[in-house]
Amino acid sequence: MALDLLLPWHVDAWSQVISQQRHARLAHAYLVSGPQGSGRYQFARALAAKLLCENPASGDPEVTACGACRQCRLFAGGNHPDVLDISPEEGRSSIKIDQIRTISRLVNQTSNQTGAIKVIIIQPAEALGTAAANSLLKNLEEPPGRTLFLLLSGPGAQMLPTIRSRCQPLPLAPATEEQGMAWLAEHSSAATEELASALALAPGAPLSALALLEAGVPAWRSIVLEQLAEMAAGRLLPTELAKYCNAQPLNYAIQLMQALSLQKARDALAAQNTEDAKAVLRFGRELVQINRQLESGANPNPLMALEHIFSAWKNATGDTDVAGTRAGQHTSSH
Ligand SMILES: [Zn+2]
Repeated sequence: MALDLLLPWHVDAWSQVISQQRHARLAHAYLVSGPQGSGRYQFARALAAKLLCENPASGDPEVTACGACRQCRLFAGGNHPDVLDISPEEGRSSIKIDQIRTISRLVNQTSNQTGAIKVIIIQPAEALGTAAANSLLKNLEEPPGRTLFLLLSGPGAQMLPTIRSRCQPLPLAPATEEQGMAWLAEHSSAATEELASALALAPGAPLSALALLEAGVPAWRSIVLEQLAEMAAGRLLPTELAKYCNAQPLNYAIQLMQALSLQKARDALAAQNTEDAKAVLRFGRELVQINRQLESGANPNPLMALEHIFSAWKNATGDTDVAGTRAGQHTSSH
C-alpha cells in the first residue's frame, strides 16, 4: 500500500525513532504530532510495519518494511493480530472507554507471531475523554512488555497532562511547498496550477490537498470565491453561500477562509490599514477556534457554523470585496 510508505517530509522523525530502536532505546509511547492531512497516520502505520517486519532491511534506516514477509502481508491485509487501531467509532466524536479496554486484551494475549512488538495506534489523542484517558493511563503507567503506543495528535492539542507526560514527544515536520508539490504530482494527474491551488488550501498537508483534488475542491474553491464577491456586493446572502458550502465538509470552507483571511490581513497591513487588518485577524482567530472544535472531535452544526463564518467574514471585510478592491456604491451596476 503506497500510503504506508515513509513520506519524504517525515524522514527526520523516522530516523530518530529508528535510531532509538537500534540502540534499544525505543520509548514505549510516543506522542506523534502533526497537522491533520500531513500524513501522521501513515507515519504511524509505516513505523508499525517496520517494527513488525521480519526483514526490516536494517542496513538502511530510510527503508520501510519489506512488504513481502508474512507480517507485512498480514499488516497490509489490515488484520495483523498485533496491531490495534483505535479511533472514534463512526458518527462519534470521542473514543469510548470500551475501546481502550480492548488494549488489555491485546497486550495480555500471547502473540501468535514471532514475538514481535505489539503496536497500539490511537488517533486522535484529543478524542480521548476523561474516562478513556484514565483507563489508558493505567497501560501507560505500567507498560506491558514489548508494546508500543503511538498517540497521534494535532500540534499543540489539548489533552490530560498525565497522558502527555508519559509519552515521548515526536513532532512531525509539515511538508515544505516543494515536497508537497512533488508528492502531489506523483499521486494526481491534475494540472500544476490545480495542485498548487489544492496545496494552498491545505498548507503543509499534502494528503489533505490530494483529498481536496479528488473531491474537485479547487474548482469548488473558485466558485466559492466568485460567490464571496457576490456576497460582498450585496447580491448573495451569507445564508445562501452557507447552504452551497454545506455540501462539502466543513473544514474545506474553513481552510479556504483561513487562506483568504491571511491574504486579506497581509494586504491590509501592506496598505497600512491597521483597522481592517485587526478585523480580519479577529475573524481568523474565530476560525482557529471553530477548527479546534472540529479537530477535537466536537460536532458543531455545519450549516450554522458556515452561516456564522460567512456573516463574520462579511462584517470583518466591510465594504471591500474578496479581491481587496473597493466595491462601494459607485461600482455597483444598479
Ligand atoms: Zn516484511
